[in-house]
Parts: sequence; structure tokens; C-alpha cells
Amino acid sequence: MKNVVFIQFYTNSEEMGRWVLGNGFSDTYDICKSKGDFLWIETGRDSEDIIELPFKTGTAYVSCCMGNQLVRVWKTALQNPEIEFVCGGPGLIGVEVIDDLPANMKLSYNSVEWYFGYPDFTGKWKLSLPDAVQAGDKLYFNYGLDGNHCYWNKCSYCNRPSWKGQRKRKIIDLELDDYFQDYNKLIRIGTEALQPKDIYLLKQLPDLPNLWCYKLNFRFDRKTVKNFKEVATELSTPFVGGASFEFPTDRMWKVMNKGYNLDEVIECLEILNDIDMAMITGGFMLGWNCLINQDIDDLKQFFQRLPVFRNKKLVLFIWPMYVFPGSMIDGKYDIDHKIIKGPFYFGYVPKISFEQEVLNDKVLKVIEEYSKGKNIDVHKEWIKSWKIFE
Ligand code: SF4
Repeated sequence: MKNVVFIQFYTNSEEMGRWVLGNGFSDTYDICKSKGDFLWIETGRDSEDIIELPFKTGTAYVSCCMGNQLVRVWKTALQNPEIEFVCGGPGLIGVEVIDDLPANMKLSYNSVEWYFGYPDFTGKWKLSLPDAVQAGDKLYFNYGLDGNHCYWNKCSYCNRPSWKGQRKRKIIDLELDDYFQDYNKLIRIGTEALQPKDIYLLKQLPDLPNLWCYKLNFRFDRKTVKNFKEVATELSTPFVGGASFEFPTDRMWKVMNKGYNLDEVIECLEILNDIDMAMITGGFMLGWNCLINQDIDDLKQFFQRLPVFRNKKLVLFIWPMYVFPGSMIDGKYDIDHKIIKGPFYFGYVPKISFEQEVLNDKVLKVIEEYSKGKNIDVHKEWIKSWKIFE
């Protein structure tokens, strides 16, 4: 053991029936391998526990996909002053550092290649698996297309605009060793929002054995979805594709600078419904402080105009609103409580008036009622902990 480790986290997601791998060093596998060992650490979705390390002196490079993993590293650094910790990854996005970090902990906002002095995407993409994963299991992992950056960058609630990382793949080099044939694979094509001009890159995606599907995020704009249809009908690989509605009415999309309009979004969903996709997903945000009664009527109209999703489902994921540091709505909501863990500030839960609580609650009822008969699944588990929906 060289006492240099590259830590990646993984979760056994029982609700989803799959292993979720935070494989942040796949792009730099050979660079990392030349400097140390990979160390997979199992983590619960929200775990903030200290990480058990196999040595007391050395260096740990950590790929943090979520903010709680950053907190885990901070606690571990305090307990292990002889180990240097270097953290990077999407878990750092939109997180404000409001207090001193331990002297043995630093954050890196650039790619791993940049950190070690190599040009981006110089190495071959590779993946090795945690020991706990067994043949036949379902795996979810990421093949990054670009670096945590969005070409739109205007949504008022989003924390991506504060991220300066620029990194873009020009060719697809996703190859997996033969032993991956034994695993059922859901591969996220990592981009915050697929750009229309990048869609043709998807033609290079390999038709892997035992592939569950490729998962994509895009925006509901006509050009993107039309280009995607052209590519998806040429390929025999299955796709799950999703975009966020947040609040699907013209007035609210203007409020949040989403750049959508109702006619176009409905057309996009009709086009997607024509493609043989495994599933379409959509994000929906609740906890707004600016709803008016008209929004409820407009929302009903949105659902009425949706096609019936026949061969696959539209799955709606409902999120509570948080106000992230650096987002455009920061400062525009009253604060209910701030989310601070150690030296990290993650934003705040906004305070909203009783009238707004009532309107948000009505919205949830509309979503549930008007989804019926359209083959739409509504997932509410992420708002359960949020007080107005208790
Ligand atoms: S919400 Fe999505 S589309 Fe909007 S700026 Fe953020 S990443 Fe881009």
C-alpha cells in the first residue's frame, strides 16, 4: 500500500434495486492507478459518518458526488491530521465554505487531469467495481459527457451557474471489460443538459450486452428533442430521458428563467412518446413563494394537454425547493432555516406564508389527480421530510 488512495463512494440502493457507483475517477483511471490505489467506500444516501481508512498517514483524493460526502471527509480529516485530503466532484457545486477547513483538507474545483497537470480526457475511461457487487447485479454509473456545466445556465433556482468547470468530451470511448457482461447496466450519460449539437455524439454509444439503458438529461426544447429522436431511432439501445418541468406553466417558467413555453414542451413530450424509450422522467419543484390561483388552472391545462404515455411511463419526481448559495433566487426568499454542516453552507429552506402553503398543497393535489389515466407515476418521497407536506 502506497498510502495514496482515490476514494469513490457507492450506495446499495434498495429502493431502486441497484448499486449506485460514484465513479468519479473513471476518466483518470490510469493516472490515478500510477499514483495509488482505488478505495470504494459504501455510503448511505445521507450518511455523514467518519470514513474508516486503512492507514494513518498518506494522501486521500476523494470524489464527492453529494454534499454529505464532503461532510464525511471533513470529519475524517479532523480525526486524521496526518492524512492529506483533496476533495473534488459535483458535491462541491454551490456549496459555500464559511469557516476554516482543517489544514489537511483542500478542495479542488478543476478536473483530476488538470490537478495532476494533464490535458482533459487524456486517459482511457475505465471502471473497476467494489468487492460487494456480484455478477447479475444491477449497476448505475456515470459516463461523463461534460463537466457539471450547463449551456443554458439561466434557471433562477439552479446552483450550476456558480460552477466554472468547462470540460467537454469530443468522442465517446466507453468500452467495458468482458466481465461487465454479467451485470445489468444503467449508464448515465453525464451532462446537466444535453446540447442539441452534441446529440449526434450519442451515435457512438456502444450497444453493450446486458445493457438496461442509457440515461440522459436534456431540456425540453424542440431542436434537442427532434435531434434526439433522429439518433434514438437509429440506435437499438434503450434510453431513459428526462428533463425538469419544475412548474409547467408559462407564467412560472418566466419567473424562473426556464426558457420553456407550453406549446413547445407539449410537442417535445409527444415526440418523446413516439420514441421507443424505456422511460421519460421529469422533475417538479414545490415550495414556491409566488404562486397565484391562475397557476393552478394553468397547471390543470398542462396535464390535460399531455399525451397518454402508452408504451412507457412518464415518471414525475417531486422535489422540495431549497435556495442554494449563488443561485439567482438567493436573497429573494425569507429564511426558514439555514443548512450548515461544519464549515459548509448548503443553502436554506425558504419560509413561505400560509397562503402560499395552501397553494403549494393544491398543486400537489392537482399533480396526483390529473396524472391519473395518463400512465404517469408520481414519486413524492423527496418531499416527505418537508414540513408543509407532512
Ligand atoms: S436547472 Fe438545468 S437547465 Fe437550468 S441552468 Fe440548471 S442545469 Fe441548466
